[in-house]
Amino acid sequence: MIFITTLYNHIMKRFLRKALIFAAIIGLASCLKNYEYTVIFRCDGGEPIPQVQSVKNGNKLTQPPSMTKMNYTFGAWYIDADYTVEWNFAKDVVTRNMRLYAKWIENDHEHEFGAWVVGDGQRTQTCLLCDFTIFESLAFVPIGSSASYEVSIGTFTGTEIVIPPLHNGQPVTDIASYAFARSNISSITIPSSITHIYVGAFAACKELTSITIPSSVTYMSASVFEGWTKFQTIRIQTHKTAPEGWSEGWLWGSNAAVEWGVD
Ligand SMILES: [Zn+2]
Repeated sequence: MIFITTLYNHIMKRFLRKALIFAAIIGLASCLKNYEYTVIFRCDGGEPIPQVQSVKNGNKLTQPPSMTKMNYTFGAWYIDADYTVEWNFAKDVVTRNMRLYAKWIENDHEHEFGAWVVGDGQRTQTCLLCDFTIFESLAFVPIGSSASYEVSIGTFTGTEIVIPPLHNGQPVTDIASYAFARSNISSITIPSSITHIYVGAFAACKELTSITIPSSVTYMSASVFEGWTKFQTIRIQTHKTAPEGWSEGWLWGSNAAVEWGVD
């Protein structure tokens, strides 16, 4: 009987040990699964400089916006500085912290650009001598789970902005915090799809002499026009005073002229 009990204990101990090891492996695996790695892009003079990405173990990277570099054409992203292994954004997954290196190919000519082709918050310019194209776009970020977008300046370097009322068929409703702050824009057209304008959206837009706010804007944050001077004019469509949903401090930090009730 003692022998059987001892044997039983022995088997149980082995079983428990195995179960513990098994649980540890499962735990470690799930930790690794949720571990976030940092990926840095070495752009070697290309612009715009891609943002650092944090990616969960086993997930794919987001392809950075296309870059330009005077008299070079972008080739591809590589996982090594000697450009031996190319990163495939459609297939490759991240399993460690790493750097990706931009490979540039020197042009045999200086690009000669035609006119910008503008539309839907984007613009492109193509070289007349080769296929090289510069693409710029306002940034459109989906708002939560609703089918609408928040807009900001993104990679757009043009001075005349026309916000499209729709992006991917869905309404553009919000202008993000500091969306166009400190930019060199000289004109902006706000469509009547816009309902929310957030803090500092047009702060210190020194080249903008006037702006027209459509009557569709039901929410205006504080300090939207911070840094605006008396030589700049804010034209408010329809409303004779600030609508109920506007922050009391929407004009904080500004002494711009305000024209109410314009068409
Ligand atoms: Zn070219």
